[in-house]
Amino acid sequence: MDFNHYFTNQELDSLLADWTEKFPRLVSLASIGESYEKRPIWLLTLTNQDTGPDSAKPAVWIDANIHATEISGTTTALHIIDTLLEGYGKDEQITRLLDTSVYYIVPRINPDGAAMAMASVPRFVRSGVRAYPWQEMDEGLHEQDIDGDGRILQMRVPDPNGDWKISSLDPRLMDRRGPAEYGGAYYRVLPEGLIEDFDGYLIKLARPYQGLDFNRNFPFEWRTENEQEGAGPYPASEPEIKAILDYIINHPNINLGLTYHTFSRVILRPLSTKSDEDMDTSDLWVFKKIGDIGTKITGYRNVSTFHDFKYHPKEITTGAFDDWMYDHQGIYCYTIELWDLPTEAGIKDRKFIEWYRDHPHEQDLQILKWADEHGGPGAYVDWYEFNHAQLGKVELGGWNVMYTWRNPPLQYIGAEAARNTPFALAAGDLLPHLALHTLKVTALGGGDYHVNLVVENTGFLPTYTNQKGKKSKVVRPVRAELDVPEEVGIVNGKRRMELGHLEGRSNKLEVSIWEASPTDNRARVEWVLHTENPASLKLRVISERAGTIQTSIQLG
Ligand SMILES: [Zn+2]
Repeated sequence: MDFNHYFTNQELDSLLADWTEKFPRLVSLASIGESYEKRPIWLLTLTNQDTGPDSAKPAVWIDANIHATEISGTTTALHIIDTLLEGYGKDEQITRLLDTSVYYIVPRINPDGAAMAMASVPRFVRSGVRAYPWQEMDEGLHEQDIDGDGRILQMRVPDPNGDWKISSLDPRLMDRRGPAEYGGAYYRVLPEGLIEDFDGYLIKLARPYQGLDFNRNFPFEWRTENEQEGAGPYPASEPEIKAILDYIINHPNINLGLTYHTFSRVILRPLSTKSDEDMDTSDLWVFKKIGDIGTKITGYRNVSTFHDFKYHPKEITTGAFDDWMYDHQGIYCYTIELWDLPTEAGIKDRKFIEWYRDHPHEQDLQILKWADEHGGPGAYVDWYEFNHAQLGKVELGGWNVMYTWRNPPLQYIGAEAARNTPFALAAGDLLPHLALHTLKVTALGGGDYHVNLVVENTGFLPTYTNQKGKKSKVVRPVRAELDVPEEVGIVNGKRRMELGHLEGRSNKLEVSIWEASPTDNRARVEWVLHTENPASLKLRVISERAGTIQTSIQLG
């Protein structure tokens, strides 16, 4: 399959249907809800159905394209699906993962926004396509493709009080006018677009007509629009978000989540609103440990949103998915920002957000040179005259931002997806797994039988995933249940026994090198049963996060 491709909704629909037809025992397809414009929100369940249902296995959650223009995430999610399906039975790791675990994958949370971004005359919204927060267009400039060439570029307008000038390094580039600089030819640079209610003098940037940000609509520390732009009228007000919340809450087997966005080449972790010092220390260590695995595989740095990815040093963002996953559900969740144009152009160790405000102008030239050589035609468009209906003669040009900054040029997306897939596989190898250690029945004479059950967690994460999940009691402890036929009596023990939580290997990261590692990943339970005649009992050991064991006990 060619992954140097951005998939339309139609292509996505048919690809997913093809996969379910080709791999019926490994993948099933369901729509978990409808978007605002009634498009299906597809979710694929990937597991070997011959080794048990998905609900009895630990799971990884993967999603993409919650933000309308971030279509690189969809290609990445599809690359992960393709790798899992094609690798089953051939690759040892993939076969183990699908035999023992589940991947729930939503390749496109926001089909409406993606359709708009990929249209022949595109429009770029942050997320949802319904009018919000106002029903009418705000006065001011609205970004759009005004010459119908399928691109939304920049406009430059000469103005003696403009804050841009033509660069001395390359006449196509714009450079900032210096604070004490006068006497040159200056420009205003604006997004390509039209001005609602233009009075001939004042150009303000309009509040977006479709101003929803789905990744501010989750219940985690949700705030109203005046404090958090794009938040929506109330938490989970949007059907796309409600669908995801309902699905995840009804699938308590999810331990880990990866949500794909663009751009910056960074693996972000919660919290967005609090310092690392205010997080549970054990959880923080595991967050970092898993992040380091991601860094090693992808080359992306792993950082805290609060410490290293705030859009303004004094402002936080609320209502985000990864924070909700961790804080409310006790699930380790990472936001992966794919692709980074400055890094690709050779600019090392830049600050993620501050760089946009302040960097040496020579770096702009470095990026332009990369785009000229590798970006394909039209990555950076030389300025051309256009007769603007409101502003008169302007020039259009500059970055074709959608396929340079927001998403890689087409010939680079396949490689970007491919470098991320191994981390998604590694995530599956971190899950807790419930396993039978010992099940022994001893006849005591006189129709009495002693049952000795030992179970263990063979995975890295504990059966409660993290301290957040344990302390908030969102994850239930492991329990054993016997189906006891009428002729069998319980002399000692109860039909349902709680085994508590089982540690994995993650807590062993905390001990000093000379300390021992106890068997805190095991639990033991005993029963004494009585029967006059031979009998068979069903036994289930249930862990919401680590899977379910079903077996039977023979007496006599
Ligand atoms: Zn995003």
